[in-house]
Amino acid sequence: MIKDNLAIVHQTIEKACENTGRNKEEVTLIAVSKTKPVSMLMEAYACGCRDFGENKVQELTAKYEVMPKDIRWHMIGHLQTNKVKYIVDKVCFIHSVDSLKLAQEISAQAVKKQVNVSILIEVNIAQEETKFGVKSADAEELIREAALLPGISIKGLMTIAPYVEDADENRQYFKQLKQLAVDISNKNIDNVSMNVLSMGMTGDYMTAIEEGASCVRVGTGIFGERQYLVK
Ligand SMILES: *Cc1c(COP(=O)(O)O)cnc(C)c1O
Repeated sequence: MIKDNLAIVHQTIEKACENTGRNKEEVTLIAVSKTKPVSMLMEAYACGCRDFGENKVQELTAKYEVMPKDIRWHMIGHLQTNKVKYIVDKVCFIHSVDSLKLAQEISAQAVKKQVNVSILIEVNIAQEETKFGVKSADAEELIREAALLPGISIKGLMTIAPYVEDADENRQYFKQLKQLAVDISNKNIDNVSMNVLSMGMTGDYMTAIEEGASCVRVGTGIFGERQYLVK
């Protein structure tokens, strides 16, 4: 099942790239494996997946311990500062940096562990009240301040678009995030590159790629629906 799902996702990525004259090598598929058991992740691994996304520190570290070491782990969920220390030397990207306080803690822990952590700034592009992320208007200021910190490299922007039935409704937001990245890139801020655009999930990754996504985060489309225990 995972194998078939992955084939479909890869075809969709190719199609979106074809539609817009992009090279499919420009797009990284992150398999979002939150709530799923290691056996399913290993199935995806066997099909060639090397980028996995998790949104909880404890789950990421538990899976990190038991899975092959050539996996690139992406922290995609809201991150509390007191948990940064558990993951700085295990992740290849933290997608969800939305405050200077968090950037400072990642920097401090990175320096302590002598690693460099690539981070993305999470932007709440649709200004949804329920979502984390900085406002577009505040992104540059956060980036300018975070860029001065040792141990971290700002590589781009991330957004979680609204949940919609018709992916086309999110096209405007993907365009806006892309434009924001271009605008910030044009400011030539030291220690900042805007090459990574993490946007697009199961419902809208094709649209996101058409609008310039370099990372898509696909969970349900690969692993099936998630079941959350009611507490
Ligand atoms: C869960 C999650 C995804 C994947 O969502 P699907 O709709 O299952 O593809 C992507 N990004 C973030 C930040 C998530 O938390």
